[in-house]
Amino acid sequence: MIDRIKEEFKKRFGGDAEIFVAPGRVNLIGEHTDYNLGFVLPGAIDKAIYLGIKPNGAMNARIYSIDYDTEMSLDLDGDNPERQWAKYIFGVVQEMRKRGAVVEGFDCVFGGDVPLGAGLSSSAALESVFGFALNEIYGCGFSRADLARIGQMTEHNYVGVRCGIMDQFASLFGKDGQVIKLDCRSLEFEMVPFAPVGMRLVLIDTMVKHSLASSEYNVRREQCEEGVNIVAGHVPGVTSLRDITIDMLDRFKGEMSNVVYRRCAFVINENQRLLDGCEALRMNDYEVFGHKMYGSHDGLSNEYQVSCRELDFIVGVARKHTGVLGARMMGGGFGGCVISLVNDDAYAGYINDVQSKFKAEFGVSPRVIDVVIGDGARQIQ
Ligand code: ADP
Ligand code: MG
Repeated sequence: MIDRIKEEFKKRFGGDAEIFVAPGRVNLIGEHTDYNLGFVLPGAIDKAIYLGIKPNGAMNARIYSIDYDTEMSLDLDGDNPERQWAKYIFGVVQEMRKRGAVVEGFDCVFGGDVPLGAGLSSSAALESVFGFALNEIYGCGFSRADLARIGQMTEHNYVGVRCGIMDQFASLFGKDGQVIKLDCRSLEFEMVPFAPVGMRLVLIDTMVKHSLASSEYNVRREQCEEGVNIVAGHVPGVTSLRDITIDMLDRFKGEMSNVVYRRCAFVINENQRLLDGCEALRMNDYEVFGHKMYGSHDGLSNEYQVSCRELDFIVGVARKHTGVLGARMMGGGFGGCVISLVNDDAYAGYINDVQSKFKAEFGVSPRVIDVVIGDGARQIQ
């Protein structure tokens, strides 16, 4: 990809570009915890977007997208462009300028191998690589945390997606052999070792996205809020599920519907699974960690009820293979991928089994995406 970018850049714009890269991400555990101000555990992956870029002395950007095979001129003082992928680039420039940076025209070529819309956050990779590169070539002096915020606000203000900050954080702060324990309340984070030997991570993409996803997401948020309000009526200082223990929740169980109780209990337990999982990783105990992944899936499926038949089916197959240490749905639910932690020697058998059984059940072959935890955004010399 890097050679391809250099070559295209020379051909289209002349001269040599500086090369940057920013990855997509996975989240190992901690689902639906972010908006409840708990923890998430993402890591950057080896799938990324690459960018060759150079200032051009003008006020517009000339951009070539390799993956869409489209070249365009973007007026950086104009309106938000129509083209979807250009909105991310335009938005990043505007968000940097809002924070006082002087960002002017540039020529660039970009492309990558983060699957689009599969839940690996190709959009965060795109925002991060442009933010990181423009910060370098125009000497804006933003920190990585600033760039994460710039990416998140690009999604809010220019793309219309009200996302959290986990994806941008992972793309910018990721490190080879480590995952990021991010506290969604304080935005403080800690690196936790994740360097399994003789094991690997693999994603199996159900290729479905059921339409329930966004409406049910809002319902879950309301149910969590309802539980918090009930407890907060008795316990001063409680403002989110982060402040509530299971014992506390149990004390007021009688005042809430069974559904609200189960939703809240899931979030509290999921947060605890993540904390326990991090301890296991620090002790190099991937078996315990995998067990937490299965626990996360069970909770998401039974208590939080955001899974679907396709996801449950894959996790069901995973459980039959002793070499699959853990598996769970990743992302908001109602479709998307299952992430599994698999012993190397069990890998082929598991993948073949999932593919043939899934095909027999649903009539399509799921996509298999191997991932390795890797470094975050950086310049390539
Ligand atoms: P994801 O879960 O992968 O982040 P999104 O819908 O949030 O899915 O973002 C996907 C969008 O990001 C694409 O529609 C496109 O506009 C942009 N994008 C991602 N990767 C690329 C790429 N390699 N080239 C051009 N645009 C990209
Ligand atoms: Mg996205």
